[in-house]
Amino acid sequence: MIAPRTVNEIIETARIEEVVEDFVTLKRRGSNLVGLCPFHNEKTPSFNVSPSKNIFKCFGCGRGGNAVQFVMEHENFTFPEALRFLAKKYSIEIEEDKPSEEQRAAQLEEESFYILNQFAREFFQKQLFETVPGKTIGLSYFKERGFLEKTIRKFELGFSPAQRDAFTKRALEAQYKIESLKQLGLTTKYDTDFFKNRVIFPIHGLTGKPIAFAGRALSTADKRTPKYINSPESPIYHKSKVLYGLYFARQEIRRQDNCYMVEGYTDVISLHQHGIENVVASSGTSLTPEQIKAVKRYSANITVLYDGDPAGVKAALRGLDLILEEGMNVRLVMLPDNQDPDSYIREVGATEFEDFLKKNAEDFILFKTRILQSDAGSDPIQRSLLVRDVVSSISRIADPIKRSIYVQECSQLLQMEETLLVREINKHIQERLRQKARERPTGQEIETDFRNLREQNEKEVTGGKHEAQQIGLRSPDEYQERDLIRILVCHGHKEVEIEVEDGQEVFSLAEYIFQNIEDIRDNFDHPVYRKILDMYEEAFISGEVLSHQDLLMDEEIEVRNTVMEMLTTPYEYSDWDKNDLPLQTQKHPEENYMEDSFSAIMRLKLKKIKGRIRENQKIIEKVREEGDPTQLEIHVKIHMELLKMRNHITDQFKNVII
Ligand SMILES: [Zn+2]
Repeated sequence: MIAPRTVNEIIETARIEEVVEDFVTLKRRGSNLVGLCPFHNEKTPSFNVSPSKNIFKCFGCGRGGNAVQFVMEHENFTFPEALRFLAKKYSIEIEEDKPSEEQRAAQLEEESFYILNQFAREFFQKQLFETVPGKTIGLSYFKERGFLEKTIRKFELGFSPAQRDAFTKRALEAQYKIESLKQLGLTTKYDTDFFKNRVIFPIHGLTGKPIAFAGRALSTADKRTPKYINSPESPIYHKSKVLYGLYFARQEIRRQDNCYMVEGYTDVISLHQHGIENVVASSGTSLTPEQIKAVKRYSANITVLYDGDPAGVKAALRGLDLILEEGMNVRLVMLPDNQDPDSYIREVGATEFEDFLKKNAEDFILFKTRILQSDAGSDPIQRSLLVRDVVSSISRIADPIKRSIYVQECSQLLQMEETLLVREINKHIQERLRQKARERPTGQEIETDFRNLREQNEKEVTGGKHEAQQIGLRSPDEYQERDLIRILVCHGHKEVEIEVEDGQEVFSLAEYIFQNIEDIRDNFDHPVYRKILDMYEEAFISGEVLSHQDLLMDEEIEVRNTVMEMLTTPYEYSDWDKNDLPLQTQKHPEENYMEDSFSAIMRLKLKKIKGRIRENQKIIEKVREEGDPTQLEIHVKIHMELLKMRNHITDQFKNVII
């Protein structure tokens, strides 16, 4: 762990303009510097760097922070990685707090795995470029596919010879341990090479190090030999979390605000070579939630490229519901018959290829509805299956506004009453909520002393907490989110009386809050606040109210710390949004939770809706440019819906306050 002293030194030394200039061309404007934002696509600079304040701020996408945050964002580094990067730049010697024996051992082991994989990668590359079989079999295969040497080197492609243990022998000679070779899956349990007579595709982690390999067989003599094999799971390779090519694609995914998803390694490489770099491959396995989350860090838009046969497409459609659940926008493109991305781009070139994608990308749900409908014809059983299928997809969209727009669209396509669809969708949603509640771990019954826990937390976190504080604000709505979560944590268990039609009813404050934030429930940005909200919701569904104890026993240290801090620091009204909406009351915060929760909800809603209006306007501009009438119609409808909501909230606020 990096010593706090060093952390401070790095933060104080790093000059924002010097750090940014390594990545972005800046021009002077007054006392500031401006440039094109590296985090979003723009033609006129809105990315500002203030040397006097030592921070950056983009007025286009809202990102901002100090040099450490810039490097974290830009290079997708963790906090310690960013610190090490800057320490190197400024030649600051890193003083480490002594890690425990165990930590050190684990760290060393992990490092040694990366070093070994790097050794393997170099071995495979050498074989490809410098040996006769490598050149005649491997290199000529890549050249046949049209890969340039520049591309082959960029993706660090290689070749494994046919001998049974050529690599293993070399690694042992270089003093690597046979156990490590086996743990990484480079050597089989019979002490032979795992990859034999194959071209090699290294799979890179997000820092660009090889974490695993894939090998493609070239000779088809033995039909039992699988065409592709992958390194097995290892301490540094978890298949379900990795997308091939993400390391090379991440910057461009962010810039284009879209990620193309293809099937094969060679598709990724070929598209890159033609200048389309925002592309990753699921590499045969069906998509997992972790893979989708990995993309989501860079863009909420995924365009899936399909080649070919309708049966395959229908099977693939199923997996895509997952992407909807993550709040991503999914579009599909069917490539022309008998073409895959690689063959098609080679045939028509990059410009025509991209034009084709833009023209033919279709909204996933509407695409699915259309395909299934043409299949079902007028057969009533098929039709009811179709409706069930479409309804299930729509119900996975977390955003209620978007959901209602899809209901309208699909009710027209299917010629069904909207209310019927809505009823079915609600059934699905409730079933999933119940499911979630059932999966919740049973409550812990350990009585814990508040103070003990606090001490324990502090010990565990000395380093971690420091880091969290340095990171600072994570989203523009953090204050508003925090206010509401604080009320939930401090007062959620208290009872409140609420006017209902026939008199008064007693609720928990948590229940009251949940009933009122349904429409923004999924728009919480801060991961810790989200987690706390999830915990409350799960408890709420199973008819319980979460206690402070439950929260303080959570396995995630960040949750425990946040709760601890909220419970122990006295709350004062802040004045950050005096101009936005007036604060509610003059009573002491401790006694005022009911009114405060109402105003906190309203302020958060207003903030979220304003944000969504801005976001949606950008999308409208984008789809208008792209000339996509379906998407344009959908987003204009969303815009109207959002305006209605905004006006409704400001009205409500006026009524209550005055
Ligand atoms: Zn920006």
